[in-house]
Amino acid sequence: ILERYGHNPTKLMQILRETQEHFGHIHADAIDHLAAKLGITRAQIESTATFYSFFYLEPVGRYRILFSDNITDRMLGNMDLLERLCRQLWIERGKVSEDGLVSVDTTSCTGMCDQGPALLVNNRAATRLTAERVDAIAELVKNQTPLAQWPAEFFQVEDNIRRKDKLLGSELQPGEALRAALSKPPEALVEEVKASNLRGRGGAGFTTGLKWEACRNAPGEAHYVVCNADEGEPGTFKDRVLLTSYADKVFEGMTLCGYAIGAKLGMLYLRGEYRYLLDPLNEILQRRRNANLLGSGILGKAGFDFDIEIHLGAGAYICGEESALIESLEGKRGNPRNRPPFPVTHGYLQQPTVVNNVETFAATTLIALHGGAWYQAIGTEKSAGTKLLSVSGDCERPGIYEYPFGVTVAQVLEDCGARDTQAAQVSGPSGVCISSAEFGRRIAFEDIPTAGAFMVFDQSRDMFEVARNFAHFFAHESCGFCTPCRVGTSLQSNLMDKLHNGHGSPYDFEEIKKLNQLLLSMSHCGLGHTACNPVLDTIAKFPAAYEKRLQHKDFTPAFNLDWALGPARRMTGRDDSGAHFKEEATGETP
Ligand code: SF4
Repeated sequence: ILERYGHNPTKLMQILRETQEHFGHIHADAIDHLAAKLGITRAQIESTATFYSFFYLEPVGRYRILFSDNITDRMLGNMDLLERLCRQLWIERGKVSEDGLVSVDTTSCTGMCDQGPALLVNNRAATRLTAERVDAIAELVKNQTPLAQWPAEFFQVEDNIRRKDKLLGSELQPGEALRAALSKPPEALVEEVKASNLRGRGGAGFTTGLKWEACRNAPGEAHYVVCNADEGEPGTFKDRVLLTSYADKVFEGMTLCGYAIGAKLGMLYLRGEYRYLLDPLNEILQRRRNANLLGSGILGKAGFDFDIEIHLGAGAYICGEESALIESLEGKRGNPRNRPPFPVTHGYLQQPTVVNNVETFAATTLIALHGGAWYQAIGTEKSAGTKLLSVSGDCERPGIYEYPFGVTVAQVLEDCGARDTQAAQVSGPSGVCISSAEFGRRIAFEDIPTAGAFMVFDQSRDMFEVARNFAHFFAHESCGFCTPCRVGTSLQSNLMDKLHNGHGSPYDFEEIKKLNQLLLSMSHCGLGHTACNPVLDTIAKFPAAYEKRLQHKDFTPAFNLDWALGPARRMTGRDDSGAHFKEEATGETP
């Protein structure tokens, strides 16, 4: 393993993954060995290994089963299925069976929301779980049947493309967009991308052409292209579909970027939940190398050398943040960096780096083929082009919908067969909750920007429980780097549990508002800034869901120090007047 990765410590994530795949977990001896061979400390390796959910330093079951736990999985009954499996296997959730055979637990959204409930077994995604399928899985585990012999339909992942537009509806012969771009200088490609007004599809919406230009102009020993395929936002699965059926467009877009900015290496950071895509994607890369679409002198263009590697993540939502993703690519914990400087000048290995989303790269092939003006004319004034939406939840036809920007929420709901809809959560937990009064609003940077998640909730759903699930998600996924977020997201999650358990009061709403202010002003990255969004949104738009839980509407919290010292007085046997706080002239206990 070490030789294949050139004893390079920046490849630590991949080395750890392969070590674990070989030995079952990352053994202490393996860490010592890696530290010696890579020339880094044991602490550095443990620091990385303990950060990611899918790395195990202790033995785990030979069958590691993780149920996807997005709100849409909950709506489809994932927890009943988990309990059923635990009962059949005679194990407790979160524990390893005594014989070391199996462990069962939950994990954050696995990107299968259109075909849930879903689980990962030894990192392979199993979809469309039913009670019968769970029973069959229990038998397969008990009989120790190798995964390769499990029924193939268990692992079938459908694309579920429901609506195609310019990106999904057009054919691209491998190399077609590259040939068009290589006939002109790289600056011309940058100008076309600028003219297109393409904005990043990962959510932030930065203008792609400006990013490419800034990176191209930045001094450095090397320039890098990074494709962010770590789509961890609950409810998002469009990149999964692009990488499954449109990978050539994505790789071609990365190669275009390499040409534009003068890079020789591109890296695709694939989320660990999509491990099953690693081998097919590597095969496509090899096919592209064989066709001289990657490698040296691409398509006969002297001096244009570019290749692409795939790095697999290991279960950390925060790595979707571009600077955290770069840290992870360098083999470290996925803690977001201070910004500025930005990756365009100081990215991978502190060199100029473009980080774009999967969909953004795919869209650049259209621009290379048809020109910036053509692309800019699609969509709305400030939102050029089309957008892929990952639709899930209460609708007849969950799946991928591609629309020109500007489509209304109502149109999407009609197209996906949503009935009696109460709300749509657009752009995942960190996005915005749209109530029925707002269904005329538009998907566009001018109105509702989105990375692509579109979760539908009908009138039967409890919007408090939706927000509570999201609050748990943020508390789980906070990377812990800064205290306001690490503590604040847990406090919010606890407050929501308190309300759920019937112990809440209006005072807790004020606490959540205060937490929001704290997280907004003191958090280091966007996760902390948006962590209170779903709770505040649902308090504002669905107050009844909260009010029905308030059993103590007139409760005012207070702390009585004199009362709290009672146990100490009893223990010491001292209860004279000197052991009590004196009451102020106001008559109130201080
Ligand atoms: Fe990590 Fe949260 Fe701080 Fe972001 S805000 S760096 S996720 S602890």
